Amino acid sequence: MTDVWDVLVVGGGPAGAAAALRAKQLRPGAAVLLLDRDDFPRDKACGDGIAAHGRDELALLGLPDLIADYRPTQRLSVISPGGVRVSARVARPNHVVPRMVFDARLVEAARARGVEVRRHRVRSLTSHDGRVVVDGELTARAVVAADGAHSTLRRLLGARPTPERHTAIAVRGYADMPDDEDAQLIAMQRAGWPAYAWAFPIGDGTANVGFGMLLPTLHATGLPGRQVLHGRLAELLPHLPARDLRAHHLPLSPGRPKPGVGRVLFAGDAASLINPLTGEGIYYALLSGRLAGEAAVLSAGDPLTAYRRRLRAALGRHLFTTDVLARAAQSPGFIDAAIATAARRPEVFDLLVEVGLGAGTVPAPLAAAVVSRWIRTNLGARG
Ligand SMILES: Cc1cc2nc3c(=O)[nH]c(=O)nc-3n(C[C@H](O)[C@H](O)[C@H](O)COP(=O)(O)OP(=O)(O)OC[C@H]3O[C@@H](n4cnc5c(N)ncnc54)[C@H](O)[C@@H]3O)c2cc1C
Repeated sequence: MTDVWDVLVVGGGPAGAAAALRAKQLRPGAAVLLLDRDDFPRDKACGDGIAAHGRDELALLGLPDLIADYRPTQRLSVISPGGVRVSARVARPNHVVPRMVFDARLVEAARARGVEVRRHRVRSLTSHDGRVVVDGELTARAVVAADGAHSTLRRLLGARPTPERHTAIAVRGYADMPDDEDAQLIAMQRAGWPAYAWAFPIGDGTANVGFGMLLPTLHATGLPGRQVLHGRLAELLPHLPARDLRAHHLPLSPGRPKPGVGRVLFAGDAASLINPLTGEGIYYALLSGRLAGEAAVLSAGDPLTAYRRRLRAALGRHLFTTDVLARAAQSPGFIDAAIATAARRPEVFDLLVEVGLGAGTVPAPLAAAVVSRWIRTNLGARG
Protein backbone atom coordinates (compact mmCIF):
# COMPACT_ATOMS: atom_id res chain seq x y z
CA MET A 1 0.00 0.00 0.00
CA THR A 2 1.22 3.49 -0.89
CA ASP A 3 0.86 5.98 2.00
CA VAL A 4 1.64 9.09 -0.01
CA TRP A 5 1.23 9.20 -3.78
CA ASP A 6 3.81 11.26 -5.65
CA VAL A 7 1.17 12.26 -8.18
CA LEU A 8 -2.57 11.77 -7.92
CA VAL A 9 -4.44 12.50 -11.14
CA VAL A 10 -8.20 13.10 -11.14
CA GLY A 11 -9.77 12.34 -14.54
CA GLY A 12 -8.73 9.77 -17.13
CA GLY A 13 -9.40 11.81 -20.30
CA PRO A 14 -6.51 12.95 -22.51
CA ALA A 15 -5.27 15.52 -19.96
CA GLY A 16 -5.22 13.13 -17.00
CA ALA A 17 -3.82 10.19 -18.94
CA ALA A 18 -1.04 12.41 -20.37
CA ALA A 19 -0.14 13.65 -16.88
CA ALA A 20 0.08 10.12 -15.50
CA LEU A 21 1.99 8.82 -18.53
CA ARG A 22 4.54 11.66 -18.38
CA ALA A 23 5.10 11.32 -14.65
CA LYS A 24 5.93 7.62 -15.06
CA GLN A 25 7.99 8.24 -18.20
CA LEU A 26 10.24 10.72 -16.36
CA ARG A 27 10.31 8.90 -13.01
CA PRO A 28 9.45 5.22 -13.46
CA GLY A 29 9.70 4.72 -9.68
CA ALA A 30 7.09 7.39 -8.89
CA ALA A 31 3.84 6.28 -7.25
CA VAL A 32 1.14 7.57 -9.60
CA LEU A 33 -2.60 7.10 -9.07
CA LEU A 34 -5.22 7.87 -11.73
CA LEU A 35 -8.83 8.19 -10.58
CA ASP A 36 -11.90 8.43 -12.81
CA ARG A 37 -15.57 8.26 -11.89
CA ASP A 38 -16.09 5.96 -14.91
CA ASP A 39 -14.65 2.69 -16.10
CA PHE A 40 -13.00 2.68 -19.53
CA PRO A 41 -13.92 2.41 -22.34
CA ARG A 42 -16.40 5.26 -21.82
CA ASP A 43 -17.97 7.69 -24.28
CA LYS A 44 -17.29 11.43 -24.24
CA ALA A 45 -19.21 13.96 -26.36
CA CYS A 46 -16.57 15.16 -28.80
CA GLY A 47 -15.91 15.68 -32.52
CA ASP A 48 -13.17 13.03 -32.16
CA GLY A 49 -10.84 15.17 -34.30
CA ILE A 50 -7.21 14.71 -33.34
CA ALA A 51 -4.94 17.30 -34.93
CA ALA A 52 -1.42 16.48 -36.10
CA HIS A 53 -0.24 18.44 -33.04
CA GLY A 54 -2.03 15.93 -30.82
CA ARG A 55 -0.07 13.16 -32.51
CA ASP A 56 3.15 15.03 -31.73
CA GLU A 57 2.11 14.94 -28.08
CA LEU A 58 1.46 11.20 -28.27
CA ALA A 59 5.00 10.75 -29.63
CA LEU A 60 6.43 12.81 -26.75
CA LEU A 61 4.54 10.56 -24.35
CA GLY A 62 6.21 7.54 -25.96
CA LEU A 63 3.08 6.43 -27.85
CA PRO A 64 3.79 7.39 -31.51
CA ASP A 65 1.63 4.57 -32.91
CA LEU A 66 -1.36 4.80 -30.56
CA ILE A 67 -3.77 5.75 -33.39
CA ALA A 68 -1.73 4.56 -36.41
CA ASP A 69 -4.48 2.11 -37.36
CA TYR A 70 -6.87 5.02 -38.06
CA ARG A 71 -6.88 6.60 -41.52
CA PRO A 72 -5.25 10.03 -41.75
CA THR A 73 -7.53 12.78 -43.13
CA GLN A 74 -5.71 14.83 -45.74
CA ARG A 75 -8.17 17.58 -46.65
CA LEU A 76 -10.01 20.32 -44.80
CA SER A 77 -12.91 22.39 -46.15
CA VAL A 78 -14.02 25.49 -44.31
CA ILE A 79 -17.06 27.60 -45.20
CA SER A 80 -17.01 31.06 -43.61
CA PRO A 81 -20.11 32.70 -42.06
CA GLY A 82 -20.59 34.72 -45.27
CA GLY A 83 -20.23 31.64 -47.50
CA VAL A 84 -16.57 32.01 -48.58
CA ARG A 85 -15.21 28.49 -49.09
CA VAL A 86 -11.66 27.19 -48.84
CA SER A 87 -10.82 23.56 -49.41
CA ALA A 88 -7.21 22.44 -49.32
CA ARG A 89 -4.79 19.71 -48.42
CA VAL A 90 -3.52 20.18 -44.87
CA ALA A 91 0.24 20.38 -44.33
CA ARG A 92 -0.01 17.50 -41.83
CA PRO A 93 -2.97 15.10 -41.73
CA ASN A 94 -5.48 14.98 -38.89
CA HIS A 95 -7.14 11.86 -37.47
CA VAL A 96 -10.65 11.10 -36.29
CA VAL A 97 -10.76 8.49 -33.53
CA PRO A 98 -13.88 7.89 -31.42
CA ARG A 99 -13.20 8.91 -27.83
CA MET A 100 -14.57 5.56 -26.72
CA VAL A 101 -11.42 4.10 -28.31
CA PHE A 102 -8.87 6.90 -27.90
CA ASP A 103 -9.32 7.52 -24.17
CA ALA A 104 -9.41 3.80 -23.33
CA ARG A 105 -6.13 3.28 -25.20
CA LEU A 106 -4.48 6.13 -23.30
CA VAL A 107 -5.64 4.82 -19.93
CA GLU A 108 -4.51 1.30 -20.86
CA ALA A 109 -1.07 2.66 -21.84
CA ALA A 110 -0.84 4.42 -18.48
CA ARG A 111 -1.75 1.21 -16.66
CA ALA A 112 0.87 -0.70 -18.69
CA ARG A 113 3.47 1.88 -17.61
CA GLY A 114 2.74 1.19 -13.96
CA VAL A 115 0.12 3.82 -13.15
CA GLU A 116 -2.50 2.55 -10.72
CA VAL A 117 -5.95 3.17 -12.20
CA ARG A 118 -9.04 3.16 -9.97
CA ARG A 119 -12.69 3.93 -10.44
CA HIS A 120 -13.44 6.63 -7.90
CA ARG A 121 -15.50 9.84 -7.99
CA VAL A 122 -13.67 12.61 -6.12
CA ARG A 123 -15.89 14.72 -3.85
CA SER A 124 -13.61 16.52 -1.38
CA LEU A 125 -10.11 17.83 -1.03
CA THR A 126 -8.02 19.37 1.75
CA SER A 127 -4.43 20.62 1.87
CA HIS A 128 -1.99 20.77 4.77
CA ASP A 129 1.73 20.36 5.50
CA GLY A 130 2.66 20.20 1.82
CA ARG A 131 0.21 17.36 1.16
CA VAL A 132 -3.18 17.15 -0.53
CA VAL A 133 -5.78 14.76 0.87
CA VAL A 134 -8.53 13.58 -1.45
CA ASP A 135 -11.79 12.32 0.03
CA GLY A 136 -10.12 12.05 3.43
CA GLU A 137 -8.31 8.86 2.43
CA LEU A 138 -5.80 9.45 -0.41
CA THR A 139 -2.74 11.60 0.28
CA ALA A 140 -0.52 13.04 -2.46
CA ARG A 141 2.43 15.40 -2.90
CA ALA A 142 0.83 16.84 -6.05
CA VAL A 143 -2.59 16.54 -7.65
CA VAL A 144 -3.44 17.05 -11.31
CA ALA A 145 -7.05 18.19 -11.72
CA ALA A 146 -7.99 16.85 -15.15
CA ASP A 147 -11.63 16.34 -14.34
CA GLY A 148 -13.07 18.10 -17.35
CA ALA A 149 -15.34 21.02 -18.18
CA HIS A 150 -17.30 20.85 -14.90
CA SER A 151 -14.19 20.30 -12.78
CA THR A 152 -15.13 19.41 -9.20
CA LEU A 153 -11.60 20.17 -8.01
CA ARG A 154 -11.59 23.64 -9.52
CA ARG A 155 -14.85 24.38 -7.71
CA LEU A 156 -13.67 22.88 -4.41
CA LEU A 157 -10.55 25.08 -4.56
CA GLY A 158 -12.60 28.22 -5.09
CA ALA A 159 -11.12 29.00 -8.51
CA ARG A 160 -13.53 31.02 -10.60
CA PRO A 161 -15.65 29.10 -13.10
CA THR A 162 -15.39 29.86 -16.84
CA PRO A 163 -17.70 32.84 -17.47
CA GLU A 164 -20.75 31.95 -19.52
CA ARG A 165 -19.70 34.31 -22.34
CA HIS A 166 -16.58 32.17 -22.78
CA THR A 167 -18.42 28.85 -22.70
CA ALA A 168 -19.71 27.02 -25.75
CA ILE A 169 -22.02 24.04 -26.02
CA ALA A 170 -21.99 21.45 -28.77
CA VAL A 171 -23.81 18.28 -29.73
CA ARG A 172 -22.21 15.43 -31.61
CA GLY A 173 -23.57 12.31 -33.28
CA TYR A 174 -22.51 9.62 -35.73
CA ALA A 175 -23.77 9.29 -39.32
CA ASP A 176 -23.13 6.97 -42.24
CA MET A 177 -20.63 8.30 -44.77
CA PRO A 178 -18.83 6.62 -47.69
CA ASP A 179 -15.36 5.24 -46.81
CA ASP A 180 -13.67 7.21 -49.58
CA GLU A 181 -14.76 10.63 -48.22
CA ASP A 182 -11.60 12.03 -46.70
CA ALA A 183 -12.23 15.78 -46.21
CA GLN A 184 -13.14 17.27 -42.86
CA LEU A 185 -15.87 19.89 -43.21
CA ILE A 186 -16.39 22.91 -40.97
CA ALA A 187 -19.42 24.97 -42.01
CA MET A 188 -19.65 28.22 -40.05
CA GLN A 189 -23.03 29.89 -39.58
CA ARG A 190 -23.91 33.57 -39.71
CA ALA A 191 -27.15 32.91 -37.79
CA GLY A 192 -26.31 32.98 -34.08
CA TRP A 193 -22.63 33.55 -34.88
CA PRO A 194 -20.23 32.25 -33.66
CA ALA A 195 -21.63 28.82 -34.48
CA TYR A 196 -20.63 25.98 -36.78
CA ALA A 197 -21.49 22.49 -37.93
CA TRP A 198 -18.90 19.83 -38.71
CA ALA A 199 -18.61 16.47 -40.45
CA PHE A 200 -15.44 14.49 -39.74
CA PRO A 201 -15.20 11.16 -41.63
CA ILE A 202 -13.67 8.40 -39.55
CA GLY A 203 -12.77 6.16 -42.51
CA ASP A 204 -14.91 3.18 -41.46
CA GLY A 205 -18.14 4.11 -43.25
CA THR A 206 -19.18 6.58 -40.55
CA ALA A 207 -18.51 10.21 -39.64
CA ASN A 208 -18.68 12.25 -36.48
CA VAL A 209 -21.09 15.12 -37.11
CA GLY A 210 -22.07 17.95 -34.81
CA PHE A 211 -23.07 21.51 -34.17
CA GLY A 212 -21.83 24.01 -31.58
CA MET A 213 -22.56 27.57 -30.48
CA LEU A 214 -21.90 29.94 -27.57
CA LEU A 215 -23.94 29.30 -24.43
CA PRO A 216 -25.37 32.86 -24.13
CA THR A 217 -26.62 32.65 -27.75
CA LEU A 218 -28.35 29.38 -26.97
CA HIS A 219 -29.96 30.85 -23.83
CA ALA A 220 -31.08 33.91 -25.80
CA THR A 221 -33.28 31.69 -27.98
CA GLY A 222 -35.42 30.91 -24.91
CA LEU A 223 -35.87 27.38 -26.28
CA PRO A 224 -34.80 24.06 -24.75
CA GLY A 225 -31.12 23.40 -25.58
CA ARG A 226 -31.81 19.97 -27.02
CA GLN A 227 -34.39 21.39 -29.44
CA VAL A 228 -32.00 24.10 -30.68
CA LEU A 229 -28.87 21.95 -30.97
CA HIS A 230 -30.51 18.87 -32.49
CA GLY A 231 -32.66 21.05 -34.74
CA ARG A 232 -29.76 23.12 -36.09
CA LEU A 233 -27.67 19.99 -36.71
CA ALA A 234 -30.48 18.32 -38.69
CA GLU A 235 -31.11 21.54 -40.62
CA LEU A 236 -27.44 22.14 -41.52
CA LEU A 237 -26.50 18.55 -42.40
CA PRO A 238 -29.81 17.11 -43.67
CA HIS A 239 -28.00 14.50 -45.78
CA LEU A 240 -26.24 13.07 -42.69
CA PRO A 241 -28.93 11.99 -40.19
CA ALA A 242 -27.17 11.47 -36.86
CA ARG A 243 -27.60 8.88 -34.11
CA ASP A 244 -26.13 8.68 -30.57
CA LEU A 245 -26.54 12.44 -30.06
CA ARG A 246 -24.77 13.74 -26.99
CA ALA A 247 -23.93 17.31 -25.89
CA HIS A 248 -21.40 18.85 -23.52
CA HIS A 249 -19.98 22.25 -22.56
CA LEU A 250 -16.68 23.63 -23.91
CA PRO A 251 -14.82 26.02 -21.56
CA LEU A 252 -12.95 28.31 -23.95
CA SER A 253 -9.45 29.60 -23.26
CA PRO A 254 -10.29 33.35 -23.00
CA GLY A 255 -12.12 32.38 -19.78
CA ARG A 256 -9.24 30.35 -18.31
CA PRO A 257 -8.45 30.51 -14.58
CA LYS A 258 -4.99 30.60 -13.01
CA PRO A 259 -3.42 27.21 -13.76
CA GLY A 260 -3.77 25.82 -10.24
CA VAL A 261 -3.99 26.39 -6.51
CA GLY A 262 -1.32 25.25 -4.03
CA ARG A 263 -0.25 21.76 -5.03
CA VAL A 264 -3.17 21.19 -7.40
CA LEU A 265 -2.51 21.80 -11.11
CA PHE A 266 -5.41 22.31 -13.54
CA ALA A 267 -5.05 20.67 -16.98
CA GLY A 268 -7.17 20.33 -20.11
CA ASP A 269 -10.81 21.41 -19.87
CA ALA A 270 -10.45 21.86 -16.10
CA ALA A 271 -8.03 24.68 -17.04
CA SER A 272 -10.41 25.96 -19.79
CA LEU A 273 -7.88 25.28 -22.50
CA ILE A 274 -10.20 24.93 -25.50
CA ASN A 275 -9.40 26.95 -28.62
CA PRO A 276 -12.14 29.63 -28.93
CA LEU A 277 -11.88 29.67 -32.74
CA THR A 278 -12.29 25.95 -33.39
CA GLY A 279 -13.44 24.20 -30.20
CA GLU A 280 -10.34 22.02 -30.35
CA GLY A 281 -9.26 20.81 -26.92
CA ILE A 282 -7.60 17.40 -27.20
CA TYR A 283 -4.20 18.74 -28.20
CA TYR A 284 -4.23 21.31 -25.37
CA ALA A 285 -5.39 18.61 -22.93
CA LEU A 286 -2.51 16.31 -23.92
CA LEU A 287 0.00 19.18 -23.81
CA SER A 288 -1.10 20.67 -20.49
CA GLY A 289 -1.43 17.20 -18.95
CA ARG A 290 2.11 16.34 -20.05
CA LEU A 291 3.45 19.60 -18.58
CA ALA A 292 1.56 19.06 -15.31
CA GLY A 293 2.95 15.52 -15.02
CA GLU A 294 6.46 16.88 -15.65
CA ALA A 295 6.14 19.64 -13.05
CA ALA A 296 4.70 17.24 -10.47
CA VAL A 297 7.68 14.87 -10.57
CA LEU A 298 10.54 17.18 -11.53
CA SER A 299 9.64 20.14 -9.28
CA ALA A 300 8.01 18.42 -6.32
CA GLY A 301 8.98 21.34 -4.02
CA ASP A 302 6.79 23.84 -5.89
CA PRO A 303 5.03 22.13 -8.79
CA LEU A 304 2.63 25.00 -9.51
CA THR A 305 5.37 27.57 -10.21
CA ALA A 306 7.12 25.09 -12.52
CA TYR A 307 3.84 24.23 -14.28
CA ARG A 308 2.89 27.88 -14.78
CA ARG A 309 6.32 28.56 -16.36
CA ARG A 310 6.13 25.54 -18.65
CA LEU A 311 2.59 26.36 -19.73
CA ARG A 312 3.49 29.98 -20.44
CA ALA A 313 6.54 28.94 -22.49
CA ALA A 314 4.48 26.45 -24.52
CA LEU A 315 1.24 28.36 -25.00
CA GLY A 316 1.59 31.94 -23.73
CA ARG A 317 1.91 33.66 -27.11
CA HIS A 318 -0.64 31.36 -28.70
CA LEU A 319 -3.23 32.02 -26.00
CA PHE A 320 -2.65 35.77 -26.32
CA THR A 321 -3.21 35.41 -30.10
CA THR A 322 -6.43 33.44 -29.74
CA ASP A 323 -7.70 35.82 -27.02
CA VAL A 324 -7.30 38.71 -29.47
CA LEU A 325 -8.64 36.78 -32.48
CA ALA A 326 -11.68 35.53 -30.54
CA ARG A 327 -12.57 39.17 -29.87
CA ALA A 328 -12.07 40.15 -33.53
CA ALA A 329 -13.99 37.07 -34.65
CA GLN A 330 -17.13 38.33 -32.93
CA SER A 331 -17.58 40.10 -36.26
CA PRO A 332 -18.33 37.41 -38.87
CA GLY A 333 -16.87 39.77 -41.50
CA PHE A 334 -13.44 39.35 -39.92
CA ILE A 335 -13.63 35.58 -40.34
CA ASP A 336 -14.87 36.02 -43.93
CA ALA A 337 -11.80 38.18 -44.62
CA ALA A 338 -9.44 35.65 -43.00
CA ILE A 339 -10.92 32.71 -44.96
CA ALA A 340 -10.94 34.70 -48.21
CA THR A 341 -7.24 35.45 -47.67
CA ALA A 342 -6.58 31.76 -46.92
CA ALA A 343 -8.41 30.73 -50.11
CA ARG A 344 -5.93 32.76 -52.19
CA ARG A 345 -2.74 32.10 -50.21
CA PRO A 346 -1.89 28.50 -49.17
CA GLU A 347 0.62 29.70 -46.57
CA VAL A 348 -2.20 31.62 -44.84
CA PHE A 349 -4.40 28.50 -44.88
CA ASP A 350 -1.57 26.56 -43.18
CA LEU A 351 -1.11 29.32 -40.65
CA LEU A 352 -4.82 29.42 -39.79
CA VAL A 353 -4.68 25.65 -39.20
CA GLU A 354 -1.71 26.20 -36.86
CA VAL A 355 -3.64 28.84 -34.91
CA GLY A 356 -6.91 26.87 -34.86
CA LEU A 357 -5.54 23.43 -34.08
CA GLY A 358 -2.05 23.97 -32.67
CA ALA A 359 0.07 26.54 -30.86
CA GLY A 360 0.39 28.95 -33.80
CA THR A 361 0.53 32.74 -33.67
CA VAL A 362 -0.18 35.35 -36.35
CA PRO A 363 2.69 37.43 -37.75
CA ALA A 364 1.88 41.17 -37.71
CA PRO A 365 1.98 41.64 -41.55
CA LEU A 366 -0.62 38.92 -42.02
CA ALA A 367 -2.88 40.39 -39.33
CA ALA A 368 -2.60 43.73 -41.16
CA ALA A 369 -3.50 42.11 -44.52
CA VAL A 370 -6.64 40.48 -43.06
CA VAL A 371 -7.72 43.65 -41.25
CA SER A 372 -7.29 45.77 -44.41
CA ARG A 373 -9.36 43.26 -46.45
CA TRP A 374 -12.00 43.32 -43.73
CA ILE A 375 -12.12 47.14 -43.76
CA ARG A 376 -12.23 47.25 -47.59
CA THR A 377 -15.12 44.74 -47.63
CA ASN A 378 -16.98 46.68 -44.94
CA LEU A 379 -16.54 49.97 -46.78
CA GLY A 380 -17.61 48.28 -50.03
CA ALA A 381 -20.71 46.86 -48.34
CA ARG A 382 -21.65 50.35 -47.06
CA GLY A 383 -21.38 51.63 -50.56
C1 LIG B 1 -19.39 18.18 -28.76
C2 LIG B 1 -17.91 18.45 -28.62
C3 LIG B 1 -17.06 18.31 -29.71
C4 LIG B 1 -15.68 18.49 -29.57
N1 LIG B 1 -14.88 18.22 -30.64
C5 LIG B 1 -13.54 18.24 -30.49
C6 LIG B 1 -12.70 17.81 -31.55
O1 LIG B 1 -13.14 17.36 -32.60
N2 LIG B 1 -11.35 17.88 -31.35
C7 LIG B 1 -10.82 18.34 -30.18
O2 LIG B 1 -9.60 18.42 -30.09
N3 LIG B 1 -11.61 18.73 -29.15
C8 LIG B 1 -12.94 18.66 -29.27
N4 LIG B 1 -13.74 18.99 -28.19
C9 LIG B 1 -13.12 19.33 -26.91
C10 LIG B 1 -12.60 18.06 -26.21
O3 LIG B 1 -13.64 17.12 -26.11
C11 LIG B 1 -12.08 18.40 -24.79
O4 LIG B 1 -11.27 19.53 -24.87
C12 LIG B 1 -11.29 17.24 -24.20
O5 LIG B 1 -12.11 16.13 -23.96
C13 LIG B 1 -10.61 17.66 -22.89
O6 LIG B 1 -10.00 16.53 -22.29
P1 LIG B 1 -9.86 16.46 -20.69
O7 LIG B 1 -9.02 15.28 -20.42
O8 LIG B 1 -9.45 17.78 -20.15
O9 LIG B 1 -11.36 16.25 -20.15
P2 LIG B 1 -12.37 15.04 -20.40
O10 LIG B 1 -12.07 14.36 -21.67
O11 LIG B 1 -13.72 15.61 -20.21
O12 LIG B 1 -12.06 14.03 -19.21
C14 LIG B 1 -12.39 14.33 -17.88
C15 LIG B 1 -12.51 13.03 -17.10
O13 LIG B 1 -12.68 13.37 -15.71
C16 LIG B 1 -13.60 12.44 -15.15
N5 LIG B 1 -14.18 13.08 -13.96
C17 LIG B 1 -14.95 14.17 -13.93
N6 LIG B 1 -15.27 14.50 -12.65
C18 LIG B 1 -14.66 13.58 -11.88
C19 LIG B 1 -14.61 13.38 -10.45
N7 LIG B 1 -15.22 14.19 -9.59
N8 LIG B 1 -13.88 12.33 -9.99
C20 LIG B 1 -13.25 11.49 -10.85
N9 LIG B 1 -13.28 11.63 -12.19
C21 LIG B 1 -13.98 12.67 -12.69
C22 LIG B 1 -14.60 12.16 -16.27
O14 LIG B 1 -15.25 10.92 -16.08
C23 LIG B 1 -13.69 12.18 -17.51
O15 LIG B 1 -13.26 10.88 -17.86
C24 LIG B 1 -15.14 18.86 -28.30
C25 LIG B 1 -16.00 19.05 -27.21
C26 LIG B 1 -17.36 18.85 -27.35
C27 LIG B 1 -18.25 18.99 -26.15
